[in-house]
Amino acid sequence: MIKNILDLLPKELIQQLLNIGEKKYRANQILNWIYNKYTTDFSEMTSLSETLRTELQNILEITIPTIITKSSSSDGTTKYLLSLHDRNNIEMVIIPNGKKNTLCISSQVGCARKCAFCATAKLGLKRNLETYEITSQVFLAIKELGEEKLTNIVFMGMGEPLDNFDNVVKAIRILQHDLCFNFSPRRITVSTSGVIPQISKLAETGLKLKLAVSLNSAIQSKREVLMPISKIFPLSELKKTLIDFRKKTPYRITFEYVMIKDFNIGKEDVKALLKYLGDISCKLNVIKWNKVDDLHYETPSTWEIKRFIDSMNVLSSAVTYRKSRGADIDAACGQLAAKNIIRKEE
Ligand code: SAH
Repeated sequence: MIKNILDLLPKELIQQLLNIGEKKYRANQILNWIYNKYTTDFSEMTSLSETLRTELQNILEITIPTIITKSSSSDGTTKYLLSLHDRNNIEMVIIPNGKKNTLCISSQVGCARKCAFCATAKLGLKRNLETYEITSQVFLAIKELGEEKLTNIVFMGMGEPLDNFDNVVKAIRILQHDLCFNFSPRRITVSTSGVIPQISKLAETGLKLKLAVSLNSAIQSKREVLMPISKIFPLSELKKTLIDFRKKTPYRITFEYVMIKDFNIGKEDVKALLKYLGDISCKLNVIKWNKVDDLHYETPSTWEIKRFIDSMNVLSSAVTYRKSRGADIDAACGQLAAKNIIRKEE
């Protein structure tokens, strides 16, 4: 079976080479072509013999998703609609911010977690992405950015990354490996709706990365309305798991909080949130709800947002208000829905 190179760790590539009677050091040459020169064609790997180039084509391939559309926002954010080999589509977003360029990637086609305020949830889960379908979004973004450097990767696109655990973990290992993408652990953030057993499992892997948790309410009954996952994995258990996770990582956990008018930014919400976060060393990242078609929620006014943020500032944790980016092209948080998720036959 032909393997995709963007699915392989260096040791696995070495094994592939040994299987065809090649020397180990060839792996470094190939990896150099891929991760330093971003070559996707074996015939361009001129430091390898012609025979080897042909042989490689029989066992390995380098496939990256096709760009169907590319939409640029007035604030510089670019959203990509990408087509996968089985005609499923996903979205990724590049967000420039000063010297930083952040890539927001998808981990699944659709999502199973049914958050009431999120556009991806409306699609349901079509399937998990393969490891190479995750790493190839990064590969593509690096090529798209050209001279500019990709500095950060966030798993905040379509899908619940921890529901595609093995492929996401392997993709991160490839993203961090110094012979591959060579990303530093602090530049990779995995965002989860709070899949408790998988958070513990992640801690056990020893993999270093930043964890973000979408909280959205610290009141159990309200969180259940926004995020049905909370019925299975309640806030109290989530907190215990995160305190445990925090002990095993050098980075503070970020809590994400989508502000929804008349729902989760009132006095009782503030009180519950301050209590929930009070004894965890964390960061709080608040963002206003971005409008999603057919959903009945509303975005708070500027002063409601200010009032909520001001009331959070008593926390010793760092509180940041994340300005929504790419809203004019439906590329803002929670707006990714790859409208034509399966392309109709042309
Ligand atoms: N499933 C993961 C990652 C994808 S969602 C998770 O839940 O974290 C990424 C972030 O977008 C989450 O913090 C989520 O709460 C937020 N989000 C979803 N829909 C949104 C919307 N309409 N407006 C603003 N943020 C939204």
